[in-house]
Amino acid sequence: MANLRLELPVLQNWSCHNCGGCCRQHLIEVTEAERQRIIGQNWTAADGVDQPVLAWHAGPPWKKRYRLAHRSDGGCVFLDDKGLCRIHAKFGEAAKPLPCRIYPFAFHPSGKSFTVSLRYSCPSVVANLGTPTSKRSNELRRMAEEVIPASAINSPAPLLTPNDRVDWTDLQPFVEALDHTLADPSTPIVVKVVRAIAWTTLIGQASFEKIRGPRIRELIALLMEAARLENPHVPESPEEPSRVGRLYFRTLVAQYARKDTVADLSSGVWGRWRLLRAIVRFTKGSGNIPSLQTGLKEVPFSALEPSFGPIDAEAEEILTRYFRVKTTGMHFFGSAYYDIPFAEGFHSLALMLPVTLWLARWHAVSDGRDRITAADISRGLAMADHHHGYSPALAQYAARRRVRSLVELGDLTRLCYWYSR
Ligand code: SF4
Repeated sequence: MANLRLELPVLQNWSCHNCGGCCRQHLIEVTEAERQRIIGQNWTAADGVDQPVLAWHAGPPWKKRYRLAHRSDGGCVFLDDKGLCRIHAKFGEAAKPLPCRIYPFAFHPSGKSFTVSLRYSCPSVVANLGTPTSKRSNELRRMAEEVIPASAINSPAPLLTPNDRVDWTDLQPFVEALDHTLADPSTPIVVKVVRAIAWTTLIGQASFEKIRGPRIRELIALLMEAARLENPHVPESPEEPSRVGRLYFRTLVAQYARKDTVADLSSGVWGRWRLLRAIVRFTKGSGNIPSLQTGLKEVPFSALEPSFGPIDAEAEEILTRYFRVKTTGMHFFGSAYYDIPFAEGFHSLALMLPVTLWLARWHAVSDGRDRITAADISRGLAMADHHHGYSPALAQYAARRRVRSLVELGDLTRLCYWYSR
């Protein structure tokens, strides 16, 4: 695509550290051209590949869709013992399927340019390890040219509210204002997220039929100032989330806590039965939390409710960077997030704060601690962001309705404060 302009995240570093996590976690669907290319690579037991390399995973027999096969230990059939890709080692990076080459980057249209965001399911992204993304512009441009269809340059801006769509120029101030709210270095992340929830909620309720151009910036500035005055600091005694709010939160957090690897998705009736039982227990919210992933023990739901102490500076940096990369990368609404409008999309992103903190508490309690560390928050964030924007369950009406109810009841704000104390 000629003259493709990319908006790169300035805060984020990344290089692959060969942990092999993505090659265990993700289902990689291949195109017909990729399937033919892999068949033509003639993999044999002598290469360390002693099973079929592709599996039919969707579509009718006359229009089969294929994915890379996984071994019984959960890893991609091409993942070797050192965490390296056999296709990459033997034929070079370009021979791998496109999703393997793109991960953990994500590209989204933004008018005449494209934003670049990253998936925090990758531990190197969470830890900010490697080359600054701003120094990878040539490589990212090449990737973007492969991923983005030529027609995307003319795509309309996503919805701002359920009833209003402004053009790309008028949408930009909303994204900039979110970044401005989240960037403030002197304010704790929880207060910044709560302020952003407050002013985006008002945006979601407003009508933009007659508000355009400079008046948009004036309106945003007014709403941001009101949100700042209403939420000056962390409350001394945060209010408990309501009973209904807790119920909705637990059903949502269950979606983020589950594991959707190929091995899990292929676990048949027994796997579905285990998941159903787990959802019932999350809905009840009493007794023990069912262990959904390795390293997370069955501990009482009530063990996650006392104060775990404040979020430390390292965790503040991780969470602030996460929210800023997702907002500047437009990775929370429109085509990047189930075609959901701006305000509702931000509320789903804001929910990632209590979800991550709840999962971090679960990690801490599983390790016998009553305080969370930045490492717990990193693990919780990597777990949760694996699903955010990618799990079909989060796009369903019921999940969206619950997020909207959390906002209407004031529970999204309460949950943010409750789990950050
Ligand atoms: S093909 Fe290579 S990069 Fe892709 S999932 Fe398999 S091992 Fe990982």
